[in-house]
Amino acid sequence: MTGEPCARAPLPSAHGLTWDQGAGIACIICARPLTTGAVSRGRIHGRAGAHHLDIDAWACPLPEQA
Ligand SMILES: [Zn+2]
Repeated sequence: MTGEPCARAPLPSAHGLTWDQGAGIACIICARPLTTGAVSRGRIHGRAGAHHLDIDAWACPLPEQA
């Protein structure tokens, strides 16, 4: 992966996220499982059909914080 670290990358739309991403246990950007030091990216609002999505977005820690 190149470019911005997950903690600073633009947030994706709520569509197409995995269950783990929606549950806040996988990185919102790269979908890797999160352990400690995850960075909160706030919430993503969207909808899937009749369901409103309100997802807590978490991203990998910044390398400097590892
Ligand atoms: Zn990531």
